[in-house]
Amino acid sequence: MNQGPTAIDAPELELSIVIPVYNEEGNIETLHRELTEALEAIGREYEVIAINDGSQDRSYERLNAVQAGDRRWHIIHFRRNFGQTAAMAAGFDAARGEIVVTMDADLQNDPRDIQGLLDKFDDGYDIVSGWRQERKEPFLLRRLPSAIANSLISRSTGIKLHDYGCTLKAYHFDVAKGVQLYGELHRFIPALARQMGVRVAEAPVKDRARRWGSSKYGISRTFKVVLDLIVVVFILSYFNRPLYVFGAAGFLVGGLGALLGAYLTVFKLLTENKIGDRPLLQLAALLMVLGVQFVSTGIVADMIMRTYHESQHKPIYFIRERRRAENDSESAELEEA
Ligand code: UDP
Ligand code: MG
Repeated sequence: MNQGPTAIDAPELELSIVIPVYNEEGNIETLHRELTEALEAIGREYEVIAINDGSQDRSYERLNAVQAGDRRWHIIHFRRNFGQTAAMAAGFDAARGEIVVTMDADLQNDPRDIQGLLDKFDDGYDIVSGWRQERKEPFLLRRLPSAIANSLISRSTGIKLHDYGCTLKAYHFDVAKGVQLYGELHRFIPALARQMGVRVAEAPVKDRARRWGSSKYGISRTFKVVLDLIVVVFILSYFNRPLYVFGAAGFLVGGLGALLGAYLTVFKLLTENKIGDRPLLQLAALLMVLGVQFVSTGIVADMIMRTYHESQHKPIYFIRERRRAENDSESAELEEA
């Protein structure tokens, strides 16, 4: 039994399409037809990776049928429903294309828009994000929360996108392989990839009504997005050196406590008043203890990050490309001889 991701470290073909599928039996045939048509028109060598995220309907049989008739399709069946983010992560792990495009199985994305993303890509971007300029969904429950979320995410992560929620996006191979996904973080990939120093562009795409079935999400998603955002902002700003955040807070709070303490000491020595019953004394003590705690939490968090980087050989840098002469090793050997 083969479990867990298999590492692929260099692209083997031009294009991978990653599609999470959860209870989409009615969409799969149309998806295959429209996608094949669009991709053959594009004319690049491609693969489609459909991830069946534990569907309870007949998506299993439908996907297998497509795969049996089309060697460019690969299917990954999850054991149970792990969520859209997990499905995308499995797709990224398996993808072999130099460009990895994600899209929904419900045909809300138009496969013909992939061409537009690729055109932008050829201008030298690492991520091209679809931007649904005319959305078909209801205003109050979908477009308003999503407009607020987009501006919040753009502002706090520094990667300005009009449409984080659009699943039709294209990623460079290195980004797809390098980004660490968990929880419901798939919509934050462009923001998370900021760590790598990516160049991000947007391309307009169409928004269509769902062909068959219903959405898997409700309004509760909004709250999760806000909570996830807090985590993302933390990861982006302080992931490498958490001591800087906690340490700064510690110095601020502890410093204030020390100042109050010094004031009370001087006050007592100069005026010979009692300070034992002053609330200010308690505050000073509390702040100083808090300050020490902040700093030590920071040090512990720093050690954890060290373990993370060293035990998993996570680099603290990302490389765009390497250039060196082809026969470098040969000439090195010659020199040694
Ligand atoms: N999806 C999934 N696992 C889930 C929920 C959704 O793989 O637990 C897939 C779903 O089949 C679709 C895509 O993720 O291809 C987006 O889901 P949906 O269309 O329900 O979201 P919406 O378009 O309403 O945001
Ligand atoms: Mg949808």
